Amino acid sequence: MSASEPPLLLDFDHTLFDTDRFFWVDVRAAVARLGVDPRLWEETYEAVWPGGYSIERHVEALAARASWPHPQQLLAAFDDQFADLRGYLFPDVLPFLQAARGAGRRVVLVSFGDPGWQTFKVRESGLATLLDEVHTAGVVGGKAGLAAAVVGAGPAGAEAIAIDNNPLELDAMRDRCPALRTYRMNRVPPDLAEGDGEAAYRFREARTYVDVPARHPHRACRSLGEVPL
Ligand SMILES: [Mg+2]
Repeated sequence: MSASEPPLLLDFDHTLFDTDRFFWVDVRAAVARLGVDPRLWEETYEAVWPGGYSIERHVEALAARASWPHPQQLLAAFDDQFADLRGYLFPDVLPFLQAARGAGRRVVLVSFGDPGWQTFKVRESGLATLLDEVHTAGVVGGKAGLAAAVVGAGPAGAEAIAIDNNPLELDAMRDRCPALRTYRMNRVPPDLAEGDGEAAYRFREARTYVDVPARHPHRACRSLGEVPL
């Protein structure tokens, strides 16, 4: 790798990884099968995530509210069913990353969230060999500093690309790196962008970003294939 290779900055959740299908459909269902009330699962999630999410902290919070099942049973079931997360990558991810590397790009993952939880998801999704660098930002807008360090100045900076579903992160990156080509990913099918019921869990978090206003004009995309390398 060299600094002359133009960087491709990629978000993880809701951009590369179908986080809602993983967490709000499959993990939620697995926990419900063990007898946990899905509403209690959701309530304890809301209590835990502002302090940094991990499955261990979530199960701990749950155990404080319900005596069955035992936290170790929940964690064992989680480890058993969610050791391999490759199936949660959107289908265009691997071809796109291979094409990016083939095009001589430096592929940099900049995810948002708790470092341990993000590391777990990224590792088990099997992306490691296709990424040149992996970073985690802990605060909204925190990706901007990482982007500035990665993009830098000079010829590579002008060809740098960033793809994220959160326009606030893209805005902050553009503030620091005005030449950055930014893509706003939206994986939510229009017919599932609103509405309640079980179907709402399918894009529970991703849909909250769809109408967030942006300060900079970002290119809209619904798949990675729309991003020219
Ligand atoms: Mg995201």
